[in-house]
Amino acid sequence: MEVAIFSSTRYERQYLDAANHAGQHRLQYFDVALEMDSVGLAAGYRAVCVFVNDCADAQVLEALHKGGTRLLALRCTGFNNVDLEAAARLGMKVVRVVTYSPHSVAEHAVALLLAINRKVHRAYNRTRDANFSLDGLTGFDLCGKTVAVVGTGKIGCVFAKIMLGFGCEVIGYDPYPSKEFEALGLRYVKPGEIGEKADIISLHCPLTPATHHIINAKTLERAKPGAILINTSRGGLVDTEAVIDALKSGQLGGLGIDVYEQEADLFFRDLSSEIITDDVFQRLVSFPNVIVTGHQAYLTREALTTICETTLASITAFERGEPLENEVKAT
Ligand code: NAD
Repeated sequence: MEVAIFSSTRYERQYLDAANHAGQHRLQYFDVALEMDSVGLAAGYRAVCVFVNDCADAQVLEALHKGGTRLLALRCTGFNNVDLEAAARLGMKVVRVVTYSPHSVAEHAVALLLAINRKVHRAYNRTRDANFSLDGLTGFDLCGKTVAVVGTGKIGCVFAKIMLGFGCEVIGYDPYPSKEFEALGLRYVKPGEIGEKADIISLHCPLTPATHHIINAKTLERAKPGAILINTSRGGLVDTEAVIDALKSGQLGGLGIDVYEQEADLFFRDLSSEIITDDVFQRLVSFPNVIVTGHQAYLTREALTTICETTLASITAFERGEPLENEVKAT
């Protein structure tokens, strides 16, 4: 099948080409993101493959449909950027990668937490500059601290297990409790208890209307002073301006994020020679106790291999008229 792949990167193409080893699909790579300005590139492609920051709203889906596209294949887990109702109305199928490597994202969340707590980013810069002073680098033992996992699905459970290994007390919040989480001997709490008890809060729930700005001025006010917040899920879970206020007042002791609400204008590109006009982002990266990574939590060899193989397997199944195991539908 002819497949138009948007937001494609050099490092990802080798995995897609490897997954297409039998050459059953003709993959056309486009560097640009899918949006109204670029949707014309997809004309004539029955399958269009997109990533986290491509826009698949009703207008774009209608334009794709007009051009002959009948399958939208997301090479990611989250699908908050797709208007599923519009897709259903148009009879366009949508598939995603339900599971690739929950370890990749959970381990990255741990990496952010360790780096923030032990100030690894600051130590790295200091020692390169022959500054071996330890002033300002004091962290705390993770052992014995309380970690709240918000969203105890695949990634949240792996993260919880790792934190148990550090000797932390792990509590969870999820409107749909998971047996796997409970089987670890862990307990669910009400949101209020997270504020009261958690030294560390890590977000692992999807972005939906119900979870938009789940971290906001009110929740931050109720948080334990000095708590660390980790977000590897979606930027829209966090009200960034409220987080900046909490960092300024010291209410939040540190922030590690792999996702940012306005990341579509920034991430996945080299903007190092440009002036960043997003003042909120610039304020965020000016804090010594903030680390931002550019949506790379999934970026391991194992995850890329599974993402690409699953995506192409879904496209093959669609071409053959077989059931789509990874289909996502409007609820
Ligand atoms: P999952 O579906 O297995 O788990 C999500 C969990 O969130 C579920 O248990 C669900 O019940 C829970 N949830 C739903 N609404 C909630 C709410 N209001 N409050 C608390 N919990 C709620 O998904 P997963 O594979 O664990 O992925 C989680 C998220 O991680 C994805 O939605 C995606 O946004 C993000 N993600 C990020 C990257 C990255 O590279 N940064 C990669 C993959 C996934």
